[in-house]
Amino acid sequence: LFITLEGGDGAGKTTQAALLEAWLTDAGRTVVRTREPGGTDVGVLVRDIVLHHRGEIAPRAEALLYAADRAHHVETVVRPALERGDVVIQDRYLDSSVAYQGAGRVLGSAEVRDLSLWATGGLLPDVTVLLDVDQSVARGRLDADDKPFDRLESEQSAFHERVRSEFLALAAAEPDRFLVLDAARPIDDLAAAVRDRVSGALDA
Ligand code: C5P
Ligand code: MG
Repeated sequence: LFITLEGGDGAGKTTQAALLEAWLTDAGRTVVRTREPGGTDVGVLVRDIVLHHRGEIAPRAEALLYAADRAHHVETVVRPALERGDVVIQDRYLDSSVAYQGAGRVLGSAEVRDLSLWATGGLLPDVTVLLDVDQSVARGRLDADDKPFDRLESEQSAFHERVRSEFLALAAAEPDRFLVLDAARPIDDLAAAVRDRVSGALDA
């Protein structure tokens, strides 16, 4: 079973991944918990490039770097784990690329999705948990406090809005794969909802 967690920065993906891993392990399952970018030694190098040169890298080059990280990760970690029958819990996967590079960097959702499917030999998750987080609420609070709202900040806010809308559109297009949760809910509520969905998938 291949489970991915998606959503904006600070949505709580890592926390939910850890809680889900603990629950599955207690239930006797073998779990591989991993992430992108940076789920392999090669991937750590790619993660270093994309995160330390963010905004300087040509958008198409950025998309290709994420795809390269993913190709290597799927071939060396994810597929072998799935073939052993392990449960893979992964922080970010192709939906992040479609949202961040496809919509955020305006490269086109269909193109970025196709790139990712090529990179992975068409591997899609069985379950994707989208932790939906409203970045504009945080932005709105900053405005109310009279913080200067400069051009960069407004571009970033537009970027995050495109990312969030794309995640929601992806979820709406594949309702069977996605579970959409409001990331503002209490951690334990969210964990219970994730467990429900995953136990359903394990029984199926
Ligand atoms: O989730 P994590 O903290 O590992 O993400 C690292 C950063 O990379 C985040 O700030 C995220 O916005 C960015 N990212 C991205 N495009 C992706 C995946 C992650 O811009 N495809
Ligand atoms: Mg995280």
